[in-house]
Amino acid sequence: MWNNLKKAVTFSYDDGVESDKKLIAILNKYGFRATFNLNSGLIGTPDYWTCKSFDVRRLSREDVLSLYRGHEVAVHGTLHLHANELGDAALDEEFGGDKRALESLFGVTMRGMAYPYGDCDAPVAASVARAGLRYGRTVFSSHGFALPEDPILLKPTCHHDDPEVFELIDRFLASESNEPQLLYIWGHAYEFDANDNWDRLEEICRRLSGHPDIFIGTNAEVLLGEVQ
Ligand SMILES: [Zn+2]
Repeated sequence: MWNNLKKAVTFSYDDGVESDKKLIAILNKYGFRATFNLNSGLIGTPDYWTCKSFDVRRLSREDVLSLYRGHEVAVHGTLHLHANELGDAALDEEFGGDKRALESLFGVTMRGMAYPYGDCDAPVAASVARAGLRYGRTVFSSHGFALPEDPILLKPTCHHDDPEVFELIDRFLASESNEPQLLYIWGHAYEFDANDNWDRLEEICRRLSGHPDIFIGTNAEVLLGEVQ
């Protein structure tokens, strides 16, 4: 795994929104690869919401099909529902149904997901596993670099707006551990627009790029050793 390197970096971004265009342009400029968690039932719909006075809009079907090339697409619930409120049949439609719809749209196998609203109790996690998904990203920061013990309930290292993100990056870069070290950053691209802090992403990428001892991969590549 990781071409015999001890360190890996991956990113995870949710909801399939217009701001993903700028996010991907920056990630591509530095050669990073990410996983984008999509809601198949909301792609191309007029669905929108406001984050700190920034209007967040969903990508069109055409944009979705071209934009994510070279990155991983993953499940985020057909309709982005509060999964903790759903029974088993509705849960299976939300996650298994999203997996099938995205596989039909993109023509590739979905390996993992991110929990909408972070809802991830035991019945929700069981539905994710039943759908045949092999990892699920929660919203709880580990502030660490160990590989997840349970990939279905994996904790990312931190959100990109975490006050400790640069300290964590520096600690990751300096680590000389013999254990595999994974730096996993997540968020929503529209937060960079809403907070007017795209420079933060540039700085994250600048610090993490140009290190030949670090493997760059999508979530499936760093967690499962598999290309989508
Ligand atoms: Zn979401």
